[in-house]
Amino acid sequence: MAKKILKRSWAEPFKIKVVEPIKMTTRAVREKAIKEAAYNTFLLRSEDVYIDLLTDSGTNAMSDYQWAGMMIGDEAYAGSKNFYTLWNNVKKYYGMPYFVPTHQGRAAEHLVSKILIKPGDYIAGNMYFTTTRLHQELAGATFVDVIIDEAHNPQSQHPFKGNVDLKKLDKLVKEVGAKKIPYLSIAGPVNMAGGQPISMQNISELTEYCKKAGIKMWFDATRAVENAYFIKEREKGYAEKTIAQILKEMLVPFEGIWVSAKKDLMVNIGGILATRNKKFFAEAKNLCVVYEGLHTYGGLAGRDMEAMARGLEEMVEYDTIKARIGQVEYCGNKLKSYGIPIVEPIGGHAVFLDAKKFLSHLKQIEFPAQTLTAEIYVDSGVRGMERGIVSAGRNAKTGDHNYPKLELVRLTFPRRVYTQAHIDVTVESIAQVYEDRKKIRGLKMIYEPKYLRFFQGRFEKL
Ligand SMILES: *Cc1c(COP(=O)(O)O)cnc(C)c1O
Repeated sequence: MAKKILKRSWAEPFKIKVVEPIKMTTRAVREKAIKEAAYNTFLLRSEDVYIDLLTDSGTNAMSDYQWAGMMIGDEAYAGSKNFYTLWNNVKKYYGMPYFVPTHQGRAAEHLVSKILIKPGDYIAGNMYFTTTRLHQELAGATFVDVIIDEAHNPQSQHPFKGNVDLKKLDKLVKEVGAKKIPYLSIAGPVNMAGGQPISMQNISELTEYCKKAGIKMWFDATRAVENAYFIKEREKGYAEKTIAQILKEMLVPFEGIWVSAKKDLMVNIGGILATRNKKFFAEAKNLCVVYEGLHTYGGLAGRDMEAMARGLEEMVEYDTIKARIGQVEYCGNKLKSYGIPIVEPIGGHAVFLDAKKFLSHLKQIEFPAQTLTAEIYVDSGVRGMERGIVSAGRNAKTGDHNYPKLELVRLTFPRRVYTQAHIDVTVESIAQVYEDRKKIRGLKMIYEPKYLRFFQGRFEKL
């Protein structure tokens, strides 16, 4: 007789030792709160939020091992013990010999952009990230998106939507010349495409191309452990390798990386700038002292660096990264079971609702994703964020809005913070909003900050 195979669920490789109570509010309270926040969830008080899926940046729960590390913080001004512990782990896991700490990811982006970019340069990248592109532009570069077309299509099931289209890259190189491209800016998984990974094969093809063309490659390794997990799960030949092995192999062709430690490293603050280039390292240390702090603390406390070093060790454990991405998949699959349009394949750190489809009666200039984010908050106190026309900002040359193909609401999962029951509540709320979607009116923008307008922009109901 054939053995009956029953469903076997997995669960998180940890249990809860400390809890933080959260407030449950009424709809009337939330309606008032979102109006005061000008329909921008970034302007809400976190007290008024029930389940906070705004971002996974710095919102992680640290382990007892990390907290224990905080107690051995060596708060010396220069040469802290924890700096050397972290440096060792940067070498061990990212394979980069040289390193300066920074207060967060964008500080590392600032230094890289300042050192490598001259005004009039071009940066090619696999889609953009808000702060990354802004620092490249502030340093005088024009950003050119060379990601594959599938990345802009929320329905495409391509397993590596973070891949670069070599034809697009080649076209740019032919147009402006390789001399005008100081480096190729690669990220994985690509946040703005819905947390979509880049494949090892694509990295090899890029390496070959860039070697011939004489273009350097840099990697935004903020979520590189998640990318390594996707390679293990989806790419031929990697199933038997460890996450740590894949991570290191992935980064071999790159001259350097910048990292926001607030993601993969499961801490609340911190950044990393690491490189193989000794000359770059010397310049980075110089500028680190100017903008961040001495090159052995870079704006961080010793205890922060210890927590980062330990977080990195934990995240490359298979069960940890599997539980992290597994939770996101659970949410995405449950949303799909209600017929709610999401970006597929389900990404590494977040589920992205397709607001163009969800609120198909709204025009893009009525800010569908901004609107939907506010509506979900009002329904249940769940806080997501807009990733659409507001986040895309304006064209630096024409001054008009950028009109991105993707108009998304991002529900991002802090690492080790919420339970499956929190996800159930979230999905049920979104299903209710979906049921009532035809009644929803759009928004108009009444205040627009000059930079990164999604953070502080203000809106009114139409
Ligand atoms: C968060 C993030 C950054 C910026 O890092 P901060 O620590 O927020 O300054 C850069 N790149 C990616 C891919 C990110 O997710």
